[in-house]
Amino acid sequence: MTASTTRRSLPADGVTWDVLETEMRARRLDDIRGHWTKAFRAPRDVQEVGLKAYTMFLSDNGFFSLYHPYIGDIEQETLEMCVSLFHPLADSCGNTTSGGSESIFCALHAAREWAREHRPVKGVPEIVLPYSAHPAFSKACHYLGMKIVRTALAADYRGDVQAMADAVGPNTIALVGSAPCWPYGLYDRLEDISALAVQHGLWMHVDACVGGYLAPFVERLGHALPAWDFRLPGVQSISADLHKLGYCPKPMSTVLWRSAGLQKFHYVSPVDWPAGEYKMMGLVGSRSGGPVFAAWCTLKYLGDSGYLRLAGQVLDAKRRLVDGIRAIEGLDAWDTDLLPVAFGSKGDDLEAIVGGMTALGWVLLGNYEPPLVNLPVDAATDDAVIDTFLDELADVTGKVHRGEIDAKGELRYG
Ligand SMILES: *Cc1c(COP(=O)(O)O)cnc(C)c1O
Repeated sequence: MTASTTRRSLPADGVTWDVLETEMRARRLDDIRGHWTKAFRAPRDVQEVGLKAYTMFLSDNGFFSLYHPYIGDIEQETLEMCVSLFHPLADSCGNTTSGGSESIFCALHAAREWAREHRPVKGVPEIVLPYSAHPAFSKACHYLGMKIVRTALAADYRGDVQAMADAVGPNTIALVGSAPCWPYGLYDRLEDISALAVQHGLWMHVDACVGGYLAPFVERLGHALPAWDFRLPGVQSISADLHKLGYCPKPMSTVLWRSAGLQKFHYVSPVDWPAGEYKMMGLVGSRSGGPVFAAWCTLKYLGDSGYLRLAGQVLDAKRRLVDGIRAIEGLDAWDTDLLPVAFGSKGDDLEAIVGGMTALGWVLLGNYEPPLVNLPVDAATDDAVIDTFLDELADVTGKVHRGEIDAKGELRYG
């Protein structure tokens, strides 16, 4: 929060749930127009399974998962189910985390520790990655005392591997590619980045936060995607969010390691206090057991065929949105490799279009370079959402074109 001059304090006496519930309900976004803020969700029956498991273990402490089998077995099985999707080697493994940002932090931390042993550098360790990579990489580098080197994109908005190669210097320890990146939904040239990593003996991380739990099923539905996982020899770690297209309740993500030997660089387990070794799954200590059990139940409830079916639904919803947007005069949708859907305007002011949609109650994510709106399509994106969105988008775009709307919205992430 920001500093406030009218500081609020605890109510003198407790407030009844009835009153609180009324306040909570008043704050809820419209089911349809608030849809994109809830991403990513599966259809209601899947959400309910997650909710039930979550509440059942809400007060249990995930802290115990490396110590007590009642939760540890569940988390390990969850991780094994996850790792199995990424073309693992015999000892590929993973850790759960609170989200993509933590998964990325953990991967860069492990890379830094690995480099101390396997690629010692004299200066500040550097990470080279395309400009379109998620800001969590910049944040992690800041925390970890590393330098981030973002390189120019190629004309097709994918990372330019030659620019990355040119940026590799004596202090470089790792390369990163996205599968896909958020702003454009495009895969970087991961095969070439992997070759570059192998050539220079660098760690390579693939950010599959948004695509990781969708891509394996999309591939099996017959849609070609570039190789992005442990099939590529240079890939040492992958971030993939269960709370995105794995449909698990937030907060739940995974960081996957090519081998157990790499995972050992992840753990920091101090013993310098009175109560023995402190070994945690990731960065956080106490955490709700809810997300752990909810993830296990969601994966089991859907199973392989369930994820395959939902991947088909996501692709259908994406197709309908892309076709519908292209049918609106003045707008154009990109050919993204996977998600999100990204669309821009051919001439009208996209900020005004977002302003008009915001005035109707929609909450939209966008991108400035170039101006785009990003739609996080999921398996809960049903006909009511798609039809209402397209109708109102067509109406607002027409009004902007005729100069009837000039309120500006923001094209930003979050
Ligand atoms: C969402 C996302 C992240 C960050 O994940 P959080 O769970 O929001 O911390 C990182 N990279 C990509 C490509 C993402 O889509």
